[in-house]
Amino acid sequence: MKKFSLVTLIVIVTAFIFTFTLSTPPTAHAKKLTFVTIGTGGVTGVYYPTGGAISKIVNKKRNKYHLKVTVESTGGSVFNVNAVMAGDLEFGIVQSDRQYQAWHGLKEWKDKGPQKDLRAICSFHPESITLVAGDDTGIWKVEDLRGKHVNIGNPGSGQRQNSIDILEYKGIDYKKDLKAEGLKAAEAPKMLQDGRIDAFFYTVGHPSGAIKEATSGRRKVHFVPITGIEGLLKKYPYYAKAFIPIKFYPMASNKKDVPTFGVKATFVTSAKIPAWIVYAITKEVFDNLEDFKKLHPAYSILTKKNMLEGLTAPFHPGALKYFKEVGLIK
Ligand code: GLU
Repeated sequence: MKKFSLVTLIVIVTAFIFTFTLSTPPTAHAKKLTFVTIGTGGVTGVYYPTGGAISKIVNKKRNKYHLKVTVESTGGSVFNVNAVMAGDLEFGIVQSDRQYQAWHGLKEWKDKGPQKDLRAICSFHPESITLVAGDDTGIWKVEDLRGKHVNIGNPGSGQRQNSIDILEYKGIDYKKDLKAEGLKAAEAPKMLQDGRIDAFFYTVGHPSGAIKEATSGRRKVHFVPITGIEGLLKKYPYYAKAFIPIKFYPMASNKKDVPTFGVKATFVTSAKIPAWIVYAITKEVFDNLEDFKKLHPAYSILTKKNMLEGLTAPFHPGALKYFKEVGLIK
């Protein structure tokens, strides 16, 4: 009797496992997860949380798309364009002006030529060229940077060329007229607070962790207004007037919003990335835009319409399919 029950039990359990395995949709087991990575910027910038916001929204639908989006901290825009073009990263967040330069083969891409596989998806928050200086340095306008110790940005960053553009426009040669550093943005706030640099440039959305860190230490610091730039805006059509909202940085010495110029953060990929992946990411971000916007205060002004502005490279077919489907593009 005892033996019979054991045999029966084994038979029942085996039959159950067999039936259960066969009745489960094979796709749920067989579909392999596809991993894609977004290149962002320093962890105290806004690109890094933006990558995080995209992955959070898209990864919720993992069972639908079998897609997992991960985020990588990088040196910034120029690094991201090059990594996406080399196939090391699938997606990148890049400044609108760097997207323009890469597509046309200018500035950092002068030797490599136009990056014809670059594809646009959408744009995100505005970024402003942010110049922070110690109150004790006597730097109150760009011209005062002469002879000073200034971080203009690491070579992979977007801000490096922005710093060079404004310095040149004001007649300052960064190689001769100041002591230029090429540090990553995440390192600059501590250097400023420690008195090892006088000022730094960072092209970033607001609020950003790096700027909070730079403005809330013991050394009193301020934002340097960047004005008298009409000629610069004429020369470079991708630059526009912008300002730094002071409400985010109550410890900075400035009392009012600070005028400067700016660009937009944009989302790019390569023509080689399959349309279904780009479609899924675009759809999830746009369909859930209200949830997405809650993930960072810099997104408060985003609308589905203005997220299609500031792009130079052609839309990726996966993004275009979605925009046509919902009528954002006719
Ligand atoms: N605009 C910066 C760059 O292109 C990055 C800013 C950020 O990480 O938020 O390098």
